Amino acid sequence: MFRGRRSPALVLAFFVGILLLAAMAGSALLLGIDGGRKSQAIRALEVETGQIQAVLLALVDAQAGFASYLSTGNPNYLEPYYQGLDRERTIEDSAPGLFAAEMESGGSTVAFADLIHANLGQLALGIAEINRNGPMTKSGVEIEIRAQQIMDAIRKAVDRMQMQRQDAIALQSRDLAPRNTLAFMLAAAAGMIAIALSVAQFFAFNRQLLRRETSETALHSRGREIELSADMTNALQSVPTREESLQVIADYASRIVNEMTGSLYTYNNSRDQLVQTASWGNGLLKTELVESFMPDECWALRRGAAYLAYSGRPGVNCHHVRGSPHSYLCEPIAAQGAVFGVLHLASPGKPPEHAFATVKETARALANRLSLALANIDLRERLQGLAIRDPLTGLFNRRVLDEILIRELGRADRAKSRLGVAMVDIDHFKNFNDQFGHKAGDTILKEISGQIAKKIRVSDLACRYGGEEFVVLLPDIDSANGLRVCEKLREGIATLEPTDMVPGAPRVTISVGFSLYPDLCKDAADLIASADRALYASKHNGRNKVTIYDAAVIAPFKPANAHVGSAGLSPEARPLI
Ligand code: GH3
Ligand code: MG
Ligand code: MG
Repeated sequence: MFRGRRSPALVLAFFVGILLLAAMAGSALLLGIDGGRKSQAIRALEVETGQIQAVLLALVDAQAGFASYLSTGNPNYLEPYYQGLDRERTIEDSAPGLFAAEMESGGSTVAFADLIHANLGQLALGIAEINRNGPMTKSGVEIEIRAQQIMDAIRKAVDRMQMQRQDAIALQSRDLAPRNTLAFMLAAAAGMIAIALSVAQFFAFNRQLLRRETSETALHSRGREIELSADMTNALQSVPTREESLQVIADYASRIVNEMTGSLYTYNNSRDQLVQTASWGNGLLKTELVESFMPDECWALRRGAAYLAYSGRPGVNCHHVRGSPHSYLCEPIAAQGAVFGVLHLASPGKPPEHAFATVKETARALANRLSLALANIDLRERLQGLAIRDPLTGLFNRRVLDEILIRELGRADRAKSRLGVAMVDIDHFKNFNDQFGHKAGDTILKEISGQIAKKIRVSDLACRYGGEEFVVLLPDIDSANGLRVCEKLREGIATLEPTDMVPGAPRVTISVGFSLYPDLCKDAADLIASADRALYASKHNGRNKVTIYDAAVIAPFKPANAHVGSAGLSPEARPLI
C-alpha cells in the first residue's frame, strides 16, 4: 500500500519559493507605486513648463498689440492685446501656485504674479494714455519702455523657472529609469518563480494522483486476486480429475498474474521432471518457456525458496530459462513439506527486484494457494488410489494387482494351473518426452494402455505398475501362449502409427519380460521379480524384445524378436526401468 510521503527538502523548497515570490512581488509593487508618483511629478512639471511658456507667449501678444496701438492709434490693433490678456487670466486661474512662486528680480524678491501684473499694469496705463492723447506721445513711449523692461525681467524669470523645472524633470527621470528596470526585473523574476512553483505544484499534484491511482489499482488487484482465488477454490470442488483441476488452476493463475509472461510447472507421475501445466503471456516478452525440466535445473527448487534473477546476467541462472535476456521469478509451490511444482514468471523489466516489486507478493500468495489446491488434488488422488483404476490410463492400479496376484496364485495352486506375468516397459520413453513434450507422452501412454487392454483376454488383468511400466496377469496360460501374447503386445505397439496422435513422432516400442508360476518361480514376489529380470534382459539385448525368464528350459516358441534369455542376471545388476 502506498501512503502520501512528504519530502522535507521539497516542503522547504516550496516555503522558500513562496517567501521569495512574496518579497519580490512586494518590492516590485512598492517600486511601481513610487515610480507612478515620480511619473506624476514629472508630468506636473511638464504641464507647468508648458503653462509658463504659454503665459510668456500671452504677454508677448499683449505687448505686440499695445505696440501696434501705440504706433497707429488704431484700436483694431489691440486685438492681440486682449487675447493675450484673456489667456494669461485663464492660466493664472488654473495654476495659482505657479504665479505665487517667488523669485529674485532687481535685487528684491517678488512673486511671478507681481511681475506679470506690473507688466500688464503698464500696458493698461499706456492704452489709457493713447486713448486720451493719441498715439506716440512721449508719455506713451515711456510707458512702453517700462513695460519692455518689466517684460525682460519676466523673460529672465521664465527662463529660470523653466531651467528649474527641466532640472527637476531630469532628476526625477534619472531616478525613475533604474527603478522601473528594477521593478520590471523583480516582476519578471517573481513571474518565473510563480511559474516554477506552479510547475512543481503540478508535478507534486500529478505524483499524488499517480500514487493514489497506484494504490487504488493495488487495492483493486488485491480484491480481484482474492475474488479469483475464491472462485478457483470453488471451481476445483466440482472438477473430478487431476487434468481438469490443473487446467482450472492454470486458468486462474494466468488471470491473477496476467501482466506477466508465466508458466506453471508441476511434477510428473514419476516425479523426475517438472512439466508445464499451463503458460500465458502478454506478448511483451519472447521467452521460450520449456515444456519440462529436471528438478535440479531450477534454483527455487534447489534452495526451497523463491528465486529472482536476470537471465542476461552471467552467474547463477536456472537452466530451464531460455530466450532473450529478461527478469524472472521462480516461486516454489510447496505445502506441508511437500513440493508440488514451480510458478515461473518472466518480465522484460530490469533489474528483477524492480520488475517484480508489485508482483512478488501476489506470486507468493498465489503459490501458497496453488500448493493447497495441488495438495488437495494429491489427497483426492490418494483417496482415489484406494479405488481401483489409474486416472490417466484407466487400467487397474498397483494396489489391485497386489491383491489379485495373491488371489490368482491361490487359485492356481488350488486348480493346479499356471499363472503368467508379463512385465512391460516403454522403450526410451524419456527421450520421447524430451522431444515431443510430456503431454504427447501422456497421449502415447494412454494409447499403449488401450492397446494392451484390447489385446488380452477378459480373464486377464492389465495394470499400470509405475510411470511407463505395466504388468499383465495371464491366468491359465503356458509358456508358449504366454510368449505369443507378449509378442502380440510388442508387435501391436511397434506397428502403431504415433503420427496420428503426435505429429512427427517416431514409432514407439516396448520391451517385455515374461515369467510363469509355478514353472519358473516359487511365489508371488518371485513371479514379479523374475518377469522384471526378464524385462531387463530384453532391454539389455536391444529393446523391442520379449524375454522369457529362464527360457532355455521352457520356451519352445522362438519368434523373430523373442529372445530366449538366461535371465540369470542378479537383482543388484538390474537398473531402474
Ligand atoms: P528405457 O528404454 O530404459 O526404459 O528408457 P526410458 O527412457 O523409458 O526409461 P527411464 O526410466 O529413464 O524413463 C522413464 C520415463 O518415463 C521418464 C518419465 O518422464 C516417463 N514417464 C513416467 N511416467 C509418465 C507419465 O505419466 N507421463 C509421461 N508423459 N511420461 C512418463
Ligand atoms: Mg522405459
Ligand atoms: Mg521404466
